[in-house]
Amino acid sequence: MKNKEWLCQVSKLTGLPYYEEHRIFGDKSGAVIGISDGYIVALGLGKVDGKNAAVKMLLRYAKTQDPEHIKQALDPAKGKFKLVADETTASLVRTYHFSKPDASTIADELRNLLTALKTSASAVNGKCEECGKAEPQMILLNDLPTYYCSSCQVQLSQKLDAAAIAYENLETNLPLGLLYGTGAALLGSIAWGGAAYLLHRIFLWGAIGIGLLVGKAVVKGTGKVTWTARIMIGLLTAASVAFGDSIFYALTVMKESQIAFTPALKVVLMNFWKLETDSESSGIASIFFGLIGAGITVYGTRKPAFKARFVALGTPAATLSSVAAK
Ligand SMILES: [Zn+2]
Repeated sequence: MKNKEWLCQVSKLTGLPYYEEHRIFGDKSGAVIGISDGYIVALGLGKVDGKNAAVKMLLRYAKTQDPEHIKQALDPAKGKFKLVADETTASLVRTYHFSKPDASTIADELRNLLTALKTSASAVNGKCEECGKAEPQMILLNDLPTYYCSSCQVQLSQKLDAAAIAYENLETNLPLGLLYGTGAALLGSIAWGGAAYLLHRIFLWGAIGIGLLVGKAVVKGTGKVTWTARIMIGLLTAASVAFGDSIFYALTVMKESQIAFTPALKVVLMNFWKLETDSESSGIASIFFGLIGAGITVYGTRKPAFKARFVALGTPAATLSSVAAK
C-alpha cells in the first residue's frame, strides 16, 4: 500500500486530519496531525538511522515534572513501539520490514496509548505551551505540533536572535585548542605506532579514532569552533597519524639495525615521504581515515541553528480520492 493511502486510512480510522504537506517525520507522504481528548497527536512514516522504515508517533501533553511516570503508564500499551518520554512529549517509533503494519492495528494501538496517557498526563487543552493562555490554533514549531500564542512566538524569535548574536560573540581560545590538540595528537601517535609495532598490523579504524580524539581535544580547548580550529583539527590529525607511522618505522629500524630510538627516528624522518608513499605501506590510507574521524567531529560542531520556524497547519487533505488523484 502506498504511504499516502495508508495515512488516509489511519486518518479515517482515528478521525484525525491528514496533512500531505507537513513532512514532520521525514517522509514526503506527510503526517496525520490532530487533537484527541485535548492531547496533541501526530503520526507518520519516516526512517530510523536513515535506513530502517518506521511508523512514528508523537503524543503531547501538558508539561509534567515526572515523565518517568508517563513512560511507565504507556509501557504496557506500546506494543512493538519503542518509547521515549520527556516533559511534554512521548515519542514512539516502530520499525518494519517490507510492508507497513495494518492501519487498523496502528489505530488500535494509538487508542490504547491514549487511554493509558489519560491516566498519567494532563491534556494540553488548547493552551499556549509557553504561557498557558488559551490559543485556538495548533501550529508547527520547527516541525513539532504545538499551541504557541502570537506574543510568545515573537518572544521566542527575539530570544533566539539574541542567542545567535551571543554565539557570534563567544571567545575562541585557539592557543588552548592547539595545546589540547597537540597533546591528543601526541598520545594518538604513540598509541598508533606502538600498536602497529606490537601487533604487526595497522588498524585503519584506529586512525578514525585518532581523528575523533584530536577533534574533541581541540574543541574542548577552543570553546567555539571556527574555520581556523577546523583546519587545526585536520592538520593535527594528519600529523598524529604520520608521526605514529614514524614511531612504528623507527621501532622497526631500531630492532633490525640494533640502534637507539632517537637515531632510528632521525633516519625515518629523513626518508619519511619515501616510506609513507611506498606501495607496501598504508600511510596515505591511514591519514585519509584519520581525516574522516576529524571530519565527523568538525561536522558535529557546526554552528547550531538558532531559528524558530512557525508554520500554520492549513487545510487537511480532504478525502482518499483527492489524494489518490495526485
Ligand atoms: Zn503564550
